[in-house]
Amino acid sequence: MSCRYMAAAFSSSLLRSSITISPFKPSNAIYPFQFPVRQCARRAMSRVSATHDEEASAKAAATEANSGAPTIFDKIISKEIPSSIVYEDEKVLAFRDINPQAPVHVLVIPKLRDGLTELGKAEPRHEDILGHLLHASKIVAEKEGIVDGFRVVINSGASACQSVYHLHLHVLGGRQLKWPPG
Ligand code: AMP
Repeated sequence: MSCRYMAAAFSSSLLRSSITISPFKPSNAIYPFQFPVRQCARRAMSRVSATHDEEASAKAAATEANSGAPTIFDKIISKEIPSSIVYEDEKVLAFRDINPQAPVHVLVIPKLRDGLTELGKAEPRHEDILGHLLHASKIVAEKEGIVDGFRVVINSGASACQSVYHLHLHVLGGRQLKWPPG
C-alpha cells in the first residue's frame, strides 16, 4: 500500500495541491538551534498530532516566512556553511538533511528562491523550477539507490510544520516508509 503512495507522491505531487503532497512531516528529530519551529520535529514516529506548543512555534516561524530574510539554505547555497551535497546543477542543489528521518534523507532546493518561500506561494512563473525540482529528486533517488521506492515531501506552511522558508523537497527512502504520515 505504501509503495503505491510513494509512487504517487513522486509522479503527481506538484500537479496536486500542497495539502495533498505535504501531509508527512519528518519526525523524531532533535533539531539544531537555528529555528524555533524545530520543536515540530520532536514528534515521535507514531504520527502523533502536533501539540499546541509545536503549532505555536510553527506559527511564529511563519510570521517571518515572507519577510525576504535569508535562511540557512542561502548559506548552504553560497557554501558559507558546509553541507553534504548529493547533486547539483545550475538551478538546484541537493544535500543531506542534517537531521535525517530515514537512511536516505536529502533536501532538494532551488538555488534562486524567487519568492518560493513555500509551495503555497507558487505562481505560474515557477512551473519550470518546480518541475526541475521534481526531476532532480528522481535523480537524487537514483544516485542514492532508492529509485524503486522513495517519498518526496514538501511541508508548506505552519500547519505542515515547515521550518525553513526556502522551498525544499525532502527525498526520503532506504527503509519501508509507512502510510498515512503524521
Ligand atoms: P522543514 O521542516 O520541512 O522546513 O524542513 C527543514 C529541514 O531542514 C529539516 O529537515 C532540517 O533538519 C533541515 N536542516 C536545517 N538546517 C540544516 C542544515 N544546516 N543542513 C542540512 N539540513 C538542515
